[in-house]
Amino acid sequence: MNAERNGMKPQHITLIGAGLVGSLLAVYLARRGYDVTIIEKRPDMRTAAISAGRSINLALANRGIRPLEELGLMQQVRDIIIPMKGRMLHDEQGQTQLVPYGQQPHEVIYSVSRGELNKLLMTAAEATGKVKIVFETGIEQIDFNQQRILLKHEQTGAQQPHHFELLIGADGGGSVVRKAIDALHGKASIEEKLFHSYKELNIAAGANGSFRIEKEALHIWPRGDFMMIGLPNNDGSFTMTLFAPDQGAVSFAALHDHASFTRFFEQNFADALKLMPDAAETYFRNPTGFLGTVHCPNWYVQNKALLIGDAAHAIVPFHGQGMNCGFEDCFDLNRLLDEHHDNWQPVFAAYAAARKPNGEAIALMAQENYVEMRATVRDPKFQLKKTVGFELEKRWPQLFSPRYSMVMFQHIPYAEALRRGRINDDILAALCDPIEQAEQVDYILAEQLIRQKLG
Ligand code: FAD
Repeated sequence: MNAERNGMKPQHITLIGAGLVGSLLAVYLARRGYDVTIIEKRPDMRTAAISAGRSINLALANRGIRPLEELGLMQQVRDIIIPMKGRMLHDEQGQTQLVPYGQQPHEVIYSVSRGELNKLLMTAAEATGKVKIVFETGIEQIDFNQQRILLKHEQTGAQQPHHFELLIGADGGGSVVRKAIDALHGKASIEEKLFHSYKELNIAAGANGSFRIEKEALHIWPRGDFMMIGLPNNDGSFTMTLFAPDQGAVSFAALHDHASFTRFFEQNFADALKLMPDAAETYFRNPTGFLGTVHCPNWYVQNKALLIGDAAHAIVPFHGQGMNCGFEDCFDLNRLLDEHHDNWQPVFAAYAAARKPNGEAIALMAQENYVEMRATVRDPKFQLKKTVGFELEKRWPQLFSPRYSMVMFQHIPYAEALRRGRINDDILAALCDPIEQAEQVDYILAEQLIRQKLG
């Protein structure tokens, strides 16, 4: 059925990509009464032994949890997540220090298996009875005028045209839908390369599935220009990720054989290396992952198509927000459909206006967080500012909130978190630059600054 003349109320939606965001969105759309066909390039990971691609586990936080709760899925998700209460910093001597993420018991983030979460969401989508996932089929071409796409079976190569009423691209960072929208508008997205990449390693579980390092923490080995992190898995293992420059004296290019790898790890990650006896083999077996940010100028084609998740705003992973932001896209889109009684016509522009500045803001904060995680976190001044920031939040909870908390534990728009975070930085610099210890803070000045700048 075609869109109505005085509005747009499709009955059927074609969604590209059954990744995390596409699967979650399908649940929302089905609950609203739409029939949804998802076209997914990969085989069904619930039956085929394939990796979910990219990182094995992810940090789930408030912005991702809210839509899962709204859809009644969080109960099931709770069975597969592990709370992480703070950053466990590992120095070169193997000393550790836990830096809490927040001050309240609920201010934690959660480690979740990408594959398990994706499977759960696909099953929830199909369980609505209104979602059909077509696996091993990729989208090849898009004709927005004719509202037609060309699909290709990944195994047989067989091609098949498909008519769409409304097309939603949830096809990730390399989105074909985004490229077609770019071409239509004659303006290409900017794909900003980080020139740092990542590689996954593994700490195996101990006896009887025990955790060999602190279970409820996100472990970080900050080393200045590079770092390694570790997130817990339910089976007692940890997924470790090395992030480093592509080129240079310390880089992926420099780790070219077992000897250089072992030397580098003994020098920088000796405590972790003891727990990863086969790290060198794993290192040379696993692919090196690319990192970058996508700045997409046009998120939709009026009444025909829109982008969601990484397809619209792929970001670097250092704030643990890519998926969370994509889930928030779904939440906001659903709200807009409520507001406009499922007349999609005004929703395209409203959705892009609401989400695009926030996508740009979290992209920037994610880049900044890389520097914080790998370098700044080691600076005593950073630790001082963190402590003072928590104290300001305790004394003036209505006015002052650390930026990390705004991003991870609240729902304040990312763009506003970025704006307020800049003001926080100024206040903390004014208070902490002249002092060495938190006890020396001038709280009269603190109150003045907070009321003046954040009141
Ligand atoms: P994707 O997960 O990429 O899914 C896209 C889907 O589309 C895939 O299933 C793909 O097969 C399919 N597809 C692609 N092209 C086509 C096509 N042509 N035709 C049909 N189907 C197609 N985010 C967090 O929130 N927290 C974290 O801690 C975190 N850590 C990360 C760590 C790393 C190392 C990386 C790389 C990313 C991390 N992210 C994290 C980001 C997160 O992985 C992404 O934001 C999230 O996966 C986006 O989901 P998506 O559904 O939009 O895209």
